[in-house]
Amino acid sequence: MSTYKTMYKCRDCGATSYQSVIGRAQNGALLATGQYRCTGCRNVFSSIREWWQPKRMPETYSHSTFG
Ligand SMILES: [Zn+2]
Repeated sequence: MSTYKTMYKCRDCGATSYQSVIGRAQNGALLATGQYRCTGCRNVFSSIREWWQPKRMPETYSHSTFG
């Protein structure tokens, strides 16, 4: 399985490389599923962007609670 080094980091564990996920097709051949697995935390992502892009922060703008 090939490992890709990137300039990005995993948003969860900070690893800088990932692998392409390999699945088995109906005819028994091994095929890339188009997904990616982090080499650090082993999470699977559907895109590289999803791998490195920070999760959306919860919107906490409630500094003051008037009303
Ligand atoms: Zn990771």
